[in-house]
Amino acid sequence: MLAIESVDKTYPNGVEALARANLRVNEGEIVAVVGGSGCGKSTLLRLAAGLDRTSRGRIRLDGETIEAPHAAVGLVFQEPRLLPWLTVAQNIGFGLSDLPRTERERRVREVLERVGLADYAARWPRELSGGQAQRVAIARALAPQPKVLLLDEPFSALDAFTRASLQEHLLDLWDAFRPTLILVTHDVEEAKRKILSALDRSLRGEREGEELAPAAAI
Ligand code: ADP
Repeated sequence: MLAIESVDKTYPNGVEALARANLRVNEGEIVAVVGGSGCGKSTLLRLAAGLDRTSRGRIRLDGETIEAPHAAVGLVFQEPRLLPWLTVAQNIGFGLSDLPRTERERRVREVLERVGLADYAARWPRELSGGQAQRVAIARALAPQPKVLLLDEPFSALDAFTRASLQEHLLDLWDAFRPTLILVTHDVEEAKRKILSALDRSLRGEREGEELAPAAAI
């Protein structure tokens, strides 16, 4: 379980981005965090990813406090953030350097197949469309087999058609890997669609302590 426990975040410039944020997300659950621009959504994800420290309170994954980037937590940003000097396969394998080469190559192949880009391993990021690049970013986040996948407005830079197909695709990936998914969006419709699709797939989960302030957690 991912537990966000009474988390405050005040930036050095005095901006209070989060105040007493609480959220518990069970393993394999999908949660959409919805709220207007500037309400602290990205801050929450950055803290959960261990990219920044809380001012007060803590974030725990299965009891372990997240204080630094953690192999069990993957993060996908709004833009793909691929390294332009590495191929698609190298981008995905980048975070797997601890694994033996054969296992690393197997993981890269598996996730590339899963995101429908098996033939793109040797391509350069500049040769990809926006949707393909974002699929590579999702594959890169999934490759270490994280327990939790955090997505920060992952489709908002894409056209509506690509966005809809990637949303469906993300649920297929969730079906295959069953990570806990936390999706941040300012788009209530996107959140609703995702929740309904997930319910369609018989997702059931219990959440407690949803007091994300001022964002609402659905
Ligand atoms: P959202 O993702 O909901 O748009 P953010 O988490 O990005 O919101 O930002 C929440 C608040 O914190 C905003 O007022 C923003 O200006 C501020 N903020 C975000 N990052 C920083 C930072 N590194 N330093 C100072 N203030 C920040």
